[in-house]
Amino acid sequence: MRVEIVAVGTELLLGQIVDTNSAIISQKLAEVGIDCLYQTRVGDNLQRIVSVLNLALERNDAVLVTGGLGPTQDDITREAIAEVMGVPLQHNPEIEDKIRAMFSSRGRTMSANNINQAMVPAGARIIEQKKGTAPGLICPIGAKVIYAVPGVPYEMLDMVDRVVIPDLISMAGVTGVIRSRTLRTWGLSESALAELVAPRLEALDAGDGRTTIAFLASGIEGIKLRITAKGGSSEIVDALLDAEEKELKSILGDIVFGVDETSIEMSVVNEVVRLGLTLSVAESLTGGLISSRLVNVPGASSWYRGCLVSYASEVKHQLLGVSDGPVVSESAAIEMAQGVRKLLGSDLGLAVTGVAGPESQEGNSIGTVFIGASSSMFGDRALQLRLPGDRDRVRQYATISALDWLRRMLSGRISATGLD
Ligand code: ATP
Repeated sequence: MRVEIVAVGTELLLGQIVDTNSAIISQKLAEVGIDCLYQTRVGDNLQRIVSVLNLALERNDAVLVTGGLGPTQDDITREAIAEVMGVPLQHNPEIEDKIRAMFSSRGRTMSANNINQAMVPAGARIIEQKKGTAPGLICPIGAKVIYAVPGVPYEMLDMVDRVVIPDLISMAGVTGVIRSRTLRTWGLSESALAELVAPRLEALDAGDGRTTIAFLASGIEGIKLRITAKGGSSEIVDALLDAEEKELKSILGDIVFGVDETSIEMSVVNEVVRLGLTLSVAESLTGGLISSRLVNVPGASSWYRGCLVSYASEVKHQLLGVSDGPVVSESAAIEMAQGVRKLLGSDLGLAVTGVAGPESQEGNSIGTVFIGASSSMFGDRALQLRLPGDRDRVRQYATISALDWLRRMLSGRISATGLD
């Protein structure tokens, strides 16, 4: 089974938007073992879309088109598919009723343009729209098929997950279950991680092929390791995933901070809640980024006291009680953590101070960062980091490094003796 992705939209060719849809769809196809050998981008031009679709059908079993299903005149994916199928577009009153109902449920009137979205190539099936207005299409052409889904990413994703991938799997004659699980890591480069995992990859390659591992670099979110397993039933596949997760965790140790959607802040919160603590943060170079990530986690009010953005040195001295002298230092980081803990009345204080650039400060080069923590449970401690990159990257790395350090400390993986 070979699938080509066709992304429609002149904005894509002008570089006004980046074609993230094709990347996401490719990942989804790879996860279930379906080959995607071509990705094509084409502008909003009927004849060019038609010729791209004809070529894609010639060299593949299925084509997945994203974009151009909107209500405006330049949304012509429906027309192009009808031309490729050699059939007329037909008005579907049920779709029109649904679009009308959707508008009235939002207190708006449907404009005449939206009727275009109720036009369907004769012989096509509909993919129900659950998030927006335009339905998707499943268009059989001989033994092959064109799927059309909207360009709006969350609408696209819903239809691909719910209908297109299951349909492709059944067309491909894949029987059984394919599932993936992602381990999320922080603290090692991709090459160091690959070296650690290499013996395990070799063992899997030499095995029965039911379990595979892939690396996904995710920038400031660390590196993800995706485990994919195939088997005759959900139970078998889940057991394979459990076994491989355990195996990889024993190899990687505490650099794994979460599984699937567990973000670094969620992993911190899990530990804070498990220990029944409250937390407050003093931030200098990160300017509130740590706090912002922490309050992303629902229910933060039960364990999060708040944050002081102590950017100016005087604020560190006057509000947090940092001693006179350098404010980019191990002792300043600890005093900031102690100060915010006292000021906001929490069990635990976390603090970050450092140099994001563009200038060095107090003789410290750009990327020098100190993280401090204070609590009765773990004592007071600090960690010095040398972070790479420009101002923005230093601030982002400092944020995730501080959260990761706190996570490891709370989960008992950093010794409770003094400074690390
Ligand atoms: P709808 O009918 O739901 O309005 P559509 O099928 O007409 O969607 P487009 O009008 O092509 O989709 O695109 C709508 C928006 O979706 C674009 O402005 C862009 O923000 C986003 N989008 C479209 N194509 C892509 C793509 N390939 N990758 C990422 N985003 C995209």
